[in-house]
Amino acid sequence: MSEKPTVEAFTEEVTSFFEANAERKADDSTPFRWGQGADDMSLFDEVDRDVEKRNIAVAKEWRAKRYDARLGWITGPEQFGGRELTQAHERAYGSVESKYRIPNTSFFGIGLGMVAPTILAHAQDHVKERYLPPMYRGDIIGAQLFSEPGAGSDLAGLQTRAERDGEEWIITGQKVWTSGAHYADIGEIVCRTDPDLPKHKGLTGFVIDMHAPGVEVRPLRQMTGGASFNEVFFDGLRVPDDHRLGEVNGGWSVALTTLLNERASIGAGGAAGGMGGIGNASRLIEMLRHFGHDADPIYRQELARVYAGFQVAKWNNQRAMDKIKAGQAPGPELSGAKLSLTQNMQAVAEFAAKVLGPKLVADTGEWGTFAWGKFVCGIPGMRVAGGTDEVLRKIIGEQVLGLPKEPGIDTTSPFKDLLKN
Ligand SMILES: Cc1cc2nc3c(=O)[nH]c(=O)nc-3n(C[C@H](O)[C@H](O)[C@H](O)COP(=O)(O)OP(=O)(O)OC[C@H]3O[C@@H](n4cnc5c(N)ncnc54)[C@H](O)[C@@H]3O)c2cc1C
Repeated sequence: MSEKPTVEAFTEEVTSFFEANAERKADDSTPFRWGQGADDMSLFDEVDRDVEKRNIAVAKEWRAKRYDARLGWITGPEQFGGRELTQAHERAYGSVESKYRIPNTSFFGIGLGMVAPTILAHAQDHVKERYLPPMYRGDIIGAQLFSEPGAGSDLAGLQTRAERDGEEWIITGQKVWTSGAHYADIGEIVCRTDPDLPKHKGLTGFVIDMHAPGVEVRPLRQMTGGASFNEVFFDGLRVPDDHRLGEVNGGWSVALTTLLNERASIGAGGAAGGMGGIGNASRLIEMLRHFGHDADPIYRQELARVYAGFQVAKWNNQRAMDKIKAGQAPGPELSGAKLSLTQNMQAVAEFAAKVLGPKLVADTGEWGTFAWGKFVCGIPGMRVAGGTDEVLRKIIGEQVLGLPKEPGIDTTSPFKDLLKN
C-alpha cells in the first residue's frame, strides 16, 4: 500500500495537476449581467448524437488523464484502481476542481455514481478488477437498467426474465427510460429469476455487455426535443453466471444499493449546484430588474421565498451528505433532500413564468426569455427520476412522520399470481 499524502500535500498535488492540464476559470466575482453569456437553461443534455459523440470523446480523454495521474478514484480501494484516501481528500479535489474549466463529464454520472458502487459491493473480485478500473478511467460507461413499462415506482414488479442455462443466464424482456444506454458499454440489470417467489424475493442483478448480441437500444424523444433516454430490448442475451451481482434471488438488496447511491448522487448535485441548475440567485434578481419588477413587493417576496427554499435545501442536503461521508447510514434525509430540490426547481419555474409571461412560450429571440422553456419542460423529468414526488412523500410519511404503511403491497404471494401492471 502506498504512503498517504496529507490533505494539504494532496491539495498541492491536485493543484499542480490542474495547472498542467486545465485552464483556470475567470474570476467568478464578475457579477452576472443580463444579456451576457449563454442563456441555455436545459436540464438534460440535448445535443445531437454526433456532437454528443465528440463530447464523450473529450470527456473520456479528461477522465483518462485524471486516472493516469492517480486522481481518478480518490477514495476507492487500491486493488481496483483507487487511491484509498479519505472523504476530506475527495472534498479537497472538488474544491480545487471548481476553480478550473473541465469538460462536461455528466456521461459518467450513472456509471460512477450508481453502477460502480454496486459492482464494488456485490460483484466477484475478478469482475470488479475487470470493470472498475476502466470505468473510473472513463474507458467504459455504465447504465442503470431497472425501470420497465410496468415497473417504475413499483420496481419489484419488474418482469424481464433471466433463466439459467448451465453457467450462463438468458435474458429476455424490456427496460425503459434507460439514461445514456445509447453510449453505455455495460449495464447493471435486475431481472426476475424466480416468479414462484414473492415479488421482492425472486430478483437477481447482473452486469451485462451493452454491445452483446441480443441487446437493442431505441431512443425515446422528450418533449424538449432531445433524446437522452432509451428503451432497451433483450432477446436471448447470454450473460455468464460470474457476472451475477450478489446471490441468486438476492437482487432486491443489490437494487437498494444502487437506489441509495442514486439518491445520494442527486443530493450531492443539489448541494453542489445550490440553485438546482440555475447557478445562483443573481440570474433571478437581474431578471426582475430587467423587466422592471425589482421594486414590486409581491415579486420581491416571491423571490425571497424561492431563494430561502434553496438555502434550506442546500443545508439539508449537506447534512445528509455529511452523514454518508461520516460512514453513517443515511435515513430518509435523502428522500427529503431530493423532494425539496425538485419542489424548489418548480418554484423557480413558476417565478420565471410570472416574470416572463408570454415570452416564455413565444420565441421573440430575446436573450434569457424563451430559453427558460427548456428548464420548465425538464422539471417533470426531474420530479420523476430517482423517486417521484409522491413516492418520496410516502417514504417521508411512513419513515419520518410514522404514518401507517401503505396497504396492499403483497410480500407473500408468488409473483406469478399477482396482478401485473
Ligand atoms: C429523466 C429520467 C431519467 C431516468 N433514467 C432512468 C435510468 O437511467 N434507468 C432506469 O432504470 N430508470 C430511469 N428512469 C425511470 C424512473 O426510475 C421511473 O420513471 C420512475 O421510477 C417512475 O416510474 P414510472 O415512470 O413507471 O411511473 P409510475 O411508477 O407508474 O408512476 C406513475 C404516477 O403514479 C404515482 N405513484 C406511483 N406509485 C405511487 C404510490 N405508491 N403512492 C402514490 N403515488 C404513486 C407516481 O408518483 C407517478 O405520478 C428515468 C426517468 C426519468 C424521468
